[in-house]
Amino acid sequence: MSKLAVLAPLDYKHFIQPRPIIDECPPDLNWPEDLFPDLPPLLHGHPDIHLRNGILEADQNPHPDAERAFFVADLSQVYKQHLRWRKCLPEIQPFYAVKCNPDPYILRLLAALGTGFDCASNGEISQVLSIGGIDPARIIFANPCKAVSFIRNAAKMDVHMMTFDNADELYKIARAHPGAKLVVRILTDDSKALCQLGIKFGAPLAAVPALLAKAKELNLDVIGVSFHVGSGNYDPSVYTDAISRARSAFDMGEDIGYHFSLLDVGGGFEDALFEQASSYLTDAIESYFPDRSGLRIIAEPGRFYVSTAFSIATNIIARRAPLGDEAAVAAPSEQPTVMYYINDGVYGAFNCILFDHQVVHPYVLSMGKSFHVAANEPVQTSSVWGPTCDSIDCVCRTVSLPVGLRVGDWLGFANMGAYTVCAASQFNGFQVSKVVYTAGVFRSGEVRGLLAQFASEVEKDNV
Ligand SMILES: *Cc1c(COP(=O)(O)O)cnc(C)c1O
Repeated sequence: MSKLAVLAPLDYKHFIQPRPIIDECPPDLNWPEDLFPDLPPLLHGHPDIHLRNGILEADQNPHPDAERAFFVADLSQVYKQHLRWRKCLPEIQPFYAVKCNPDPYILRLLAALGTGFDCASNGEISQVLSIGGIDPARIIFANPCKAVSFIRNAAKMDVHMMTFDNADELYKIARAHPGAKLVVRILTDDSKALCQLGIKFGAPLAAVPALLAKAKELNLDVIGVSFHVGSGNYDPSVYTDAISRARSAFDMGEDIGYHFSLLDVGGGFEDALFEQASSYLTDAIESYFPDRSGLRIIAEPGRFYVSTAFSIATNIIARRAPLGDEAAVAAPSEQPTVMYYINDGVYGAFNCILFDHQVVHPYVLSMGKSFHVAANEPVQTSSVWGPTCDSIDCVCRTVSLPVGLRVGDWLGFANMGAYTVCAASQFNGFQVSKVVYTAGVFRSGEVRGLLAQFASEVEKDNV
């Protein structure tokens, strides 16, 4: 999902203190943990409790690989983001970008919440439809460059909405799915994003009239316009220009004889900047599309929905520290004195460092079998590495960690839900870290209720 694999910049951030656990949720003995027979149980309670439970279990378990790294997914975070979306962008229907994290529980919760889905491949379409209870009209096939066989299969699955940005795609669609509802993906300014997509996708405005004329000639139904401001956008003011370009594309459509009814504002929404982005977007829509009768507005958020929902617990499986005299020689410096090796790395969950340009910050989950780390614990400059034999497998080049940290202790990383699990490999024989699920504490009863209702509806459909 990125154009260049660059190493994350050096960071000198201190490690984060363990978070206090606030578990307001009383244990519910009637909690059905097995809502979906094929999925792991859905637990309840604060995710930190499950991080700690996982560590306690691993410490008591004699099996090889007992200390394996694991994620805890807090589904209430996804629900919280959805409520935020509805509050800030009530007019815009989210189509969750499946590639960001195609987790089976997340897809089901979003299906229960009524979102649509942005799929990029035949595999993603099949995965979404195999859940059951999801109308294919809730899918947009938002990859502008698709294999002909995938287009044909979309037609068979009744997935009609799809994007294009070049003439060849139009010829392919005319052959394989002439009844498709097409959305022209235009190029917008994505220079203010971690992952720029414009070098690969998007028709420049100058090319749009000819493309639309070609679509008309081929008797294809173009219903609207889409764009993507880049994934990991850090300057939400770009929405103003993007919406103004979309307006121009709408006008170009009118000139050619189309009357567009769909505006797709893409993804790129960041957790921290969401309110700001919403306000730029809402203002721009208001000024460029003042009359919105008959206009459907959708978006394709990915990371916004899931980044905060996953944390990962990793075990320190090795350490390289100077011995005795060596330690005296190693002058205190910015250079790491101690190297820690943990059991997930850039070939696994931390691929987000290479592909998604993320900088990750560890915190101490447990040290010397204790979940408590004193605030005045002395620290030293350290580096954190993944478990493979490749030297690119570096998780943190420089980070302050407690001097007392040893093999067997655990490091945690928060905000690991977006572009992590989905792109993890098994390079060097290391398995992809498993996920433990909790309904969390934020309105967890509603989260469970939504999933339970969805599960029973799907089951009814299947009878
Ligand atoms: C990746 C992608 C998204 C999701 O982007 P986020 O930055 O995660 O919100 C949406 N639409 C398309 C077409 C994408 O390729």
